[in-house]
This record gives sequence, C-alpha cells and structure tokens, in this order.
Amino acid sequence: MPIFEFECRDCSNKFEILTKAQEKIYCPKCKSCNLDKLISAFGTNSNDSKCNWGDPGLINKQEFERIRSKDSD
Ligand SMILES: [Zn+2]
Repeated sequence: MPIFEFECRDCSNKFEILTKAQEKIYCPKCKSCNLDKLISAFGTNSNDSKCNWGDPGLINKQEFERIRSKDSD
C-alpha cells in the first residue's frame, strides 16, 4: 500500500499517510484538507489542493492500472 507525505498548508504540519484510494485525507493536527502532496514519484499534475483526494491521481499509476485490470477481470 502506498505511503504519501503531505504538508498542511494551514498549519505546516508534515505527516505521512498510508492511504487507500478514495479515502479523504485530512491534516491530523488541524483537520484541514488544504494539503500539499510532497511525494511526486509519478509525474501527475495534481498539485492543486482540493478536498477531493479520492481521484486516481492519489495512487500511483502502476497501482491504478493494477486495480483497473483487476476490475475488468
Ligand atoms: Zn494542519
């Protein structure tokens, strides 16, 4: 399962989260979802900070393809 590192834009708290797809992520300190994703090992353009972290950009492409191929099985 992928681990992502985020920095909260509201309180500058940095934290790592073991995340599943379609899971909303909040700052554990102030509960804000105004976050920067610090790890960009896969070059997506999802640098915008919205609350809809449930999009496929959250997981890496390999994992995304794996899930998709699993679905179509
Ligand atoms: Zn925060």
